[in-house]
Amino acid sequence: MEDKVRIGVYICHCGANIADTVDIQQVVDFAKGLDSVVVAREYKFMCSDPGQNMIKEDIKQLGLNRAVVASCSPLMHEPTFRRAVQEAGINPYLFEMANIREHCSWVTEDHEKATEKAKRLVSAAVKRVYYHQPLEIREIPVNPNTLIVGGGIAGIQAALEIADSEHKVYLVERDPSIGGHMIQFDKTFPTLDCSACILTPKMTAVGAHPYIELMTYSEVEEISGFIGNFKARIRKKARFVDESKCTSCGVCQEKCPWKADSEFDLGLSKRKAIYTPFAQAVPNIPVIDKEYCAYFLKGTCRACEKFCEVGAIDFEQVDQVIEVDIGNIIITTGYDAFDPTPITQYGYGRFDNVVTGLEFERICNAVGPTSGKIVLKDSSEPKSIAIIHCVGSRDENYHEYCSRVCCMYALKYSHLIKERTDAEVYQMYIDMRCFGKGYEEFYKRLSEEGVTFIRGKVAEVTDRAINEDEKGKLIVCGEDTLLGTTMRVPVDMVILCIALEARSDAKEVAKLFSISQGADGFFIERHPKLDPVATMTDGIFVAGCCQGPKDIPDTVAQASAAATRVLALISKGKVEMEAATAVIDEEKCSGCQICNLLCPYSAISFIEDKEVSRVNEALCKGCGTCAAACPSGAITHKHFTTEEIMAEIEGVLA
Ligand SMILES: Cc1cc2nc3c(=O)[nH]c(=O)nc-3n(C[C@H](O)[C@H](O)[C@H](O)COP(=O)(O)OP(=O)(O)OC[C@H]3O[C@@H](n4cnc5c(N)ncnc54)[C@H](O)[C@@H]3O)c2cc1C
Repeated sequence: MEDKVRIGVYICHCGANIADTVDIQQVVDFAKGLDSVVVAREYKFMCSDPGQNMIKEDIKQLGLNRAVVASCSPLMHEPTFRRAVQEAGINPYLFEMANIREHCSWVTEDHEKATEKAKRLVSAAVKRVYYHQPLEIREIPVNPNTLIVGGGIAGIQAALEIADSEHKVYLVERDPSIGGHMIQFDKTFPTLDCSACILTPKMTAVGAHPYIELMTYSEVEEISGFIGNFKARIRKKARFVDESKCTSCGVCQEKCPWKADSEFDLGLSKRKAIYTPFAQAVPNIPVIDKEYCAYFLKGTCRACEKFCEVGAIDFEQVDQVIEVDIGNIIITTGYDAFDPTPITQYGYGRFDNVVTGLEFERICNAVGPTSGKIVLKDSSEPKSIAIIHCVGSRDENYHEYCSRVCCMYALKYSHLIKERTDAEVYQMYIDMRCFGKGYEEFYKRLSEEGVTFIRGKVAEVTDRAINEDEKGKLIVCGEDTLLGTTMRVPVDMVILCIALEARSDAKEVAKLFSISQGADGFFIERHPKLDPVATMTDGIFVAGCCQGPKDIPDTVAQASAAATRVLALISKGKVEMEAATAVIDEEKCSGCQICNLLCPYSAISFIEDKEVSRVNEALCKGCGTCAAACPSGAITHKHFTTEEIMAEIEGVLA
């Protein structure tokens, strides 16, 4: 141990958050009596400038060489206080925090017990800080290239913002074209802009941008490294069409005799075995779907090859695996639309004219399966349409959350139906949630367009008529909670406003990028209010609906925020690395390699000739997994040494 240890202890009131439950003065008096404590003080808000200045002054005036702050969770303010002690001249790792708010005042109303626990937590922190050693914070350069995963509106927006600042972006999209869900829509609420008209200029800009390397029909297979220095392995699936030769003339698609359901039109139309998903696709290069191509199935046909004048068809093409170095990653993988088949009472899949919201988007679209005509399966025009809200959302059996966009897209449909048909429209809702800018006004406008609003949860859609009016119709049954009566509404078509849910492969994506999912499956941000685009893995950001259901304006805002965070790191050019890393004592290491297997950051490698494991400190995030698992006790986790942990336990028990 260096010079005599001199500790200052600072107890925070956190306004009334702590002081209303914990007797602050008692804790201060208690701290004053602890070994090596030179001074103990209290203050209303220790994180405020006067609070921090008090600590800094004491360090200078009283020659303190350790500090303890007893306040809130270190997650919020540990960096604040570490910075403060550093500014006063002591190493930031010679500081310890005791959480007497979340762990103490917020979990009990019993003043006596809260005060007692606060004393023990302070005693533990004081005992532990005694053994802290100064650690060196290292800086490493940030690679200015960025990887964006998912080419919906979120990925497109983020890519353009970064690339416009002349920094390279790799945009990886798993489908043959970028565009995501937004390119499937006809109009977008609340302004009713044509979706393609506002999106395709951005898509084209991405395709032509000198700073964006677009990889469609591709997926990330492996990520290694750490903030500023990631490596990604990307699989670019074979399109069987040479992108450098294809002129997008479309002849191959015309001549191809083989058909499959169009994924873009949700199975409401057919596409060819060689296809471009939609007219404005970026890149506008077709792919051959091996599942339906006669050449791949039976070794016959090759019509596309025969008719391609530039010789772009290449049946021998294989997947390419590309490795790229990047400094930051933005995940923008979006959402899946809820499949309402399990809600059997709504008849989806049983009745031809029960469709989902997303299918209705395609029906309304001028280049969709019905050329934009709102028609029934038999091509006749509907005389009445029911729009059922909250299908799969706000429902304990499926998703408890509100999907945030359904009320609004339901209103959008009312408008489109009224504009194009003479049909009666019934909106069947639980409550109308029109929270965004211009949304309430949109609702008001629609209320004046002759739409009938019925409040209540629909129980069933049936074809069992009980009178002449209902014959040949779909009857929507339920309760009208405003009138307090049951209802039976005969209609020709039913639109189900389906929930937005986490992608079916969100778990694998979360694992691949070492990020977390919430109980609802969406990716979790670092802090719901104060850090909404960062994740718990430094250098990896989330934006758009992969983080939770949201509309396009919020998606774009979040994507811009993520791009800004990345640009800030690029412009700083360097990041600080965790100093509290693990070290392996090679004398004690038995070479069992358990730590190699457990390390979630791939930071430990095995040195073959010495038969020992070694930590790469640049990769180590100080999670402690290896130290806890090492059967030989060969691993020390700096800042969490056995001595420090034992002292802390002693402090609690004292
Ligand atoms: C029926 C319906 C109507 C709507 N209408 C409107 C409206 O009018 N106005 C409005 O503001 N909002 C509307 N929304 C909401 C809107 O769809 C979303 O806000 C928006 O699409 C979110 O964009 P995104 O980029 O986050 O996700 P997405 O649009 O889902 O895009 C994600 C992209 O990532 C790709 N991807 C996924 N996983 C991977 C992977 N592992 N690797 C590579 N790529 C991957 C996908 O292929 C996709 O291209 C509507 C939603 C629904 C369901």
